[in-house]
Amino acid sequence: MAEDLDTDLAIIGAGPTGLFSAYYAGFRGLRVAVVDSLPELGGQITAMYPEKQILDVAGFPSIKGRDLVDGLVEQANTADPAYVLDKTATGLTCTDDDVTITMDDGTRLTAKALLITAGIGKFSPRPLPAGEGWLGRGMEFFVPSFAPYAGKDVVIVGGGDSAFDWAIHLEPVARSITLVHRRDAFRAHERSVQAVRDSTVEIVTKAQVTGLFGEPTVSEVEITIDGQEPVRRPAQAVVAALGFVADLGPLQKWGIEVQKRHIVVDSAMRTNLPRVFAAGDITEYPGKVKLIAVGFGEAATAVNNAAVVIDPSAHVFPGHSSEGT
Ligand SMILES: Cc1cc2nc3c(=O)[nH]c(=O)nc-3n(C[C@H](O)[C@H](O)[C@H](O)COP(=O)(O)OP(=O)(O)OC[C@H]3O[C@@H](n4cnc5c(N)ncnc54)[C@H](O)[C@@H]3O)c2cc1C
Repeated sequence: MAEDLDTDLAIIGAGPTGLFSAYYAGFRGLRVAVVDSLPELGGQITAMYPEKQILDVAGFPSIKGRDLVDGLVEQANTADPAYVLDKTATGLTCTDDDVTITMDDGTRLTAKALLITAGIGKFSPRPLPAGEGWLGRGMEFFVPSFAPYAGKDVVIVGGGDSAFDWAIHLEPVARSITLVHRRDAFRAHERSVQAVRDSTVEIVTKAQVTGLFGEPTVSEVEITIDGQEPVRRPAQAVVAALGFVADLGPLQKWGIEVQKRHIVVDSAMRTNLPRVFAAGDITEYPGKVKLIAVGFGEAATAVNNAAVVIDPSAHVFPGHSSEGT
């Protein structure tokens, strides 16, 4: 049985907003715990685009997703957070004095306030039907690093930004890249599509990967073009980039006011439940813009207002971090 935890501020979601919130909790002298259903920190950035350059984070004209997460983690770690990873928050009970979150393995986390930075909710990759049982045996949903693909024949399945980005990035590393998509139109950005068309990547459209073969890891895939006989070709790596299924799931049953799958907050990032705040992509209010930069601002607002709920003698304004340095 996992050990129960007790803290001042509990945060659900270790994406950029949750990580910056953890830093801010430390700055306010609060004990903090961060829960995430993914095994790694960084939310959407780590899961979907660690190698992409981000151009609109204040102070960084261009920063690779992975490097932004590394910086956020370093900053968050100054608060010495308790990270509770690979666990999904499934239940919430509130009393006048505290909140308790229950995780899917039964672990309980009690806190004086809760900040929900759950982004688009718990997200899981859309499965490749033929790929069942192949995860970790040559098939992956994410490409966190390129080195494992060196010298391999790689098949990427999908027609969105991730599929095309990974095709562009893996092309110089892999022996060959084949991009398989079930339609002949793509959701990816036109510039990425053109870059792939101009490269050595073979694009196979109106086609599906209908089988994976090999023991213990994949060595061949079967590709079926509409109306044609299936064809097998060598492949030592398959990337299923078919997008994600996001699920707000349990959060919707906690009595929190939700509008179109988002949590309604006021200008202090308060939800309708006492001691429960929200920030980042998950929030909704008139004029909301879903960006990392906006999440950072909301994180600061939420934590500073939560600090007063946790300790009514505290002030909302935290003072300047540069003071005393
Ligand atoms: C391909 C792509 C490119 C992008 N490019 C940019 C860009 O250039 N600039 C920009 O500003 N934004 C960009 N974005 C959007 C940006 O990534 C999001 O705005 C940002 O990640 C939101 O951060 P967040 O911390 O609020 O939520 P998220 O990053 O979504 O993190 C939420 C975390 O909460 C966890 N979680 C959810 N529910 C639970 C639960 N019940 N229990 C436990 N954990 C839970 C999830 O696992 C996740 O890790 C891009 C998004 C994508 C997909």
